[in-house]
Amino acid sequence: MSDPAATVLVIEDELQMRRFLTTSLAAHDYRAVEAMTAREGLNQAAGRNPDVILLDLGLPDLDGIELTRRLREWSRTPIIVISARGREQDKIAALDAGADDYLTKPFGLGELLARLRAALRRGASPDHGDSVVAFGDLKVDLAARLVFRRGAEVHLTPIEYKLFTTLVRHAGKVVTHRQLLKEAWGPNAVEHAHYVRVYMTQLRHKLEEDPSRPRYLLTESGVGYRLKAE
Ligand code: CA
Repeated sequence: MSDPAATVLVIEDELQMRRFLTTSLAAHDYRAVEAMTAREGLNQAAGRNPDVILLDLGLPDLDGIELTRRLREWSRTPIIVISARGREQDKIAALDAGADDYLTKPFGLGELLARLRAALRRGASPDHGDSVVAFGDLKVDLAARLVFRRGAEVHLTPIEYKLFTTLVRHAGKVVTHRQLLKEAWGPNAVEHAHYVRVYMTQLRHKLEEDPSRPRYLLTESGVGYRLKAE
């Protein structure tokens, strides 16, 4: 028997497949929540707090691999990819992006349900990430990728956003230059410490009241940076 309380978010743009999944899930006592696009999927993941996510890779607005990465910025909910892409490299990319399991279409309902049960067992005490976090004047909505200062939206470039959310994920702890470079620019940039310095200055101008005396984005001399968790 499945856990009657378990909520499964189905992110799938294809109507027939979505119907099949939601009907089958309901017949097995799961609560099914649907999303047709990646954007809707992100909203549902943040708003409905599902226990498992079933994710199709071919979505109209964003590839499922990228969606997996975005979900993993704040959520640890198990993700089972359901895709027609059956190549090994697709599976590797999905798993490396943060998916927990991968099922190639077409698949049998029995196997899907067994994998769902396995995912629920593994995620039995999930540390559901909160998609909105606040630090004093600053607030970040990780699902919507929006940053606010005193209630007003602050526009960050993609790199600034990555730097900032890396610090947010490790709030209160020192994040090294190397770690920040890897997160924001990728593994090939780890020698370019000055990138971080330049972008951190920009971030402070956007997020700090007095950029020369930062309250939140603190320098840890010779090591890296730390977001002060109040
Ligand atoms: Ca699709």
